Amino acid sequence: MNYNKKSISLMVLLALGTSPFLQSSAQEKQQKTEMKEQNEPDAILLQEWKGPYGGVPAFDKVELDKLQPAMEKAMELHLLEIDQIANNKEAPTFENTIVAMEKAGKPLDRVFTYYGIWSSNVSSPEFREIQTVLAPKISEYSSKISQNKPLYERIKTIYNRSQQNPLEDDQQRVVQLIYENFAMEGAGLDPEAKKRYAEINMELSRLYTKFSSNVLADEEGYVVYLGKDQLDGLPESFVKASAKAANDRGEEGKYAITNTRSSMDPFLTYSDERELREKVWRNYYSRGDNKDEFDNNKIISEILKLRDERVALMGYENYAQWRLQNRMAKNPENAMELMEAVWPAALARVDQEVKDMQELANTEGKDITIKPWDYRYYAEKVRKEKYDLDSDEVKQYLQLGNLTQALFFTAGELFNYKFEPVPAGSVPVFHEDVKVWEVTDKTTGANIGLWYLDPYARQGKRSGAWATTYRSHTTFEGKENVLGSNNSNFVKPAPGEPALISWDDATTFFHEFGHALHFFSSKVKYPTLNGGVRDYTEFQSQLLERWLSTDEVINRFLLHHETGEPIPAELVDKIKKASTFNQGFSTTEFLASALMDMKYHTTDPELINPETFEKETLDKLNMPDEIVMRHRSPHFSHVFSGEGYATGYYGYLWADVLTSDAAEAFEEAPGGFYDNEVAARLVKFLFAPRNSMDPAEAYRQFRGRDATIDALMRDRGFPVPDKM
Ligand SMILES: [Zn+2]
Repeated sequence: MNYNKKSISLMVLLALGTSPFLQSSAQEKQQKTEMKEQNEPDAILLQEWKGPYGGVPAFDKVELDKLQPAMEKAMELHLLEIDQIANNKEAPTFENTIVAMEKAGKPLDRVFTYYGIWSSNVSSPEFREIQTVLAPKISEYSSKISQNKPLYERIKTIYNRSQQNPLEDDQQRVVQLIYENFAMEGAGLDPEAKKRYAEINMELSRLYTKFSSNVLADEEGYVVYLGKDQLDGLPESFVKASAKAANDRGEEGKYAITNTRSSMDPFLTYSDERELREKVWRNYYSRGDNKDEFDNNKIISEILKLRDERVALMGYENYAQWRLQNRMAKNPENAMELMEAVWPAALARVDQEVKDMQELANTEGKDITIKPWDYRYYAEKVRKEKYDLDSDEVKQYLQLGNLTQALFFTAGELFNYKFEPVPAGSVPVFHEDVKVWEVTDKTTGANIGLWYLDPYARQGKRSGAWATTYRSHTTFEGKENVLGSNNSNFVKPAPGEPALISWDDATTFFHEFGHALHFFSSKVKYPTLNGGVRDYTEFQSQLLERWLSTDEVINRFLLHHETGEPIPAELVDKIKKASTFNQGFSTTEFLASALMDMKYHTTDPELINPETFEKETLDKLNMPDEIVMRHRSPHFSHVFSGEGYATGYYGYLWADVLTSDAAEAFEEAPGGFYDNEVAARLVKFLFAPRNSMDPAEAYRQFRGRDATIDALMRDRGFPVPDKM
């Protein structure tokens, strides 16, 4: 995952792209004096960062009870600046409007850094209270900017003029991105349409909340309790967790299978009890679809109609067309074309997988036909037979310390970076586990920034792994260095013991570091150009995962923690082979959801009856009986409990296509994954420009052609189609 700190609290801020929260030094000085005079208690949170490396966040000095007034003050300051820009008497110019916007809001930018840390790394009940109070205020602040008509008129004037007399490339790109973002949020609508637009958004946000609370209600409302004699096949650790889950629900002595993916998935994989598997499966895939007060079907219909009406106000034919215009795919047709190209191969593979499983069931003397609740169970048996991989054995070679050095090695080879720990105590951190390195250019020694690593799980830290920046690279007000951070949830080892992690976790570690390298390598001039493009921004980090299994990394860094021996080649081979296993299942369940997402948003909502639309659409697609959508419509939260992934679910596959295709550019090169020439192009075209050029054009510059799906098909073990 890739978190811009400004996106942490509310997606609504994303509407402004990487909203430019910068401010001129003159204004800043004035503000600082004011603050001192008033002796405001929240000053430290707003203050310019001091200390070494171009200034660093004062994590050691900030206090949570000052956060709310500081946030409110910072938003107010930013709105004041925005009003000054919008009401400027002078005719709009790039300098007095766009550059001024890019400069505005620096104190807010700084408070948001602290806000992000309290939210993700060191959360507490006290913080969550503050967050609840601030959420509507942040939302109001955000729409005050996105709905500012005089501001939009200025932007539009500059944009229109630039269509006649183009600006410099990067200026042109900033104007275009800002203009499109405002237009997409309805800033250009007349007062009456704007009123309706706001009503629709209000209604939608109510429906999104209702949709997700209905899903939650069904997740909490359906728990399967097992007795001691119903545990056959289940791993020890799962049984323990289920006993605890039952205990927590007051059912001592029983075992609870809760209605969530983390409980359903292992249960269906390992339980020998077929009837129970069916029951758990039915509960899970019926969430939001139980014909009761928590049923989501009607809500889906309302959401689709409102979305359609809203984009129609702005002249779009459908929601997908509106949403995809600034994505790499550009329009729903391109996204559909990709999905439809992969779909038949996925179906053919499912056929094969079902055949293998059916054979195995027959050999075991079971008189059954493979059903959806059998898929995971028999797939696991086939997997064991074909590639018996002992994940604990793999772990012995994956030490966190060595893997960190492997990241630095990779960054050194590809980006010419050097990482050195900062002197003890020189840079404040928000927790003693956090370590900081200085990043410099190997050749010139120039400072590029600081890398903060917060590796271990603890209470108050959100789960998963993510990357973020405290400060991004820009040059339009003088060169700013980057403060980037990676965050994981590895289990902290006992003192003196090595931290050993799984292959999946090591892959994620490389992935998140890919985001960090994307931050560090930025060469953009304006903050807006640092923004991400949803179907593009995961690609760079996915690509970086590939370096984990290169010989150079294996032989130097994947060493047994006791013997120091590198991980055996046949073990790595097994890991690689296992990665193409069960791709029929995972590609099909994913694509069914992604295709459905797109069909919902390209079909006239008046023609959609959610009770029947899903089944009819899947029938037309020849969806196999043995598989169900990864997220069935009544609980497809990516799409219906907000707008973040609505008509965006395909994006995972889109990024995968680019990843596979780009990886083959290295495989084909004389120097392989460490080829200097390909690495230079990688940095120059795929990392450094961020969003300062059209992603499709950037990719063409890197590869000499557009990406094709061939490499992805090979990676998934599918036959490559003759032509796309
Ligand atoms: Zn990511």
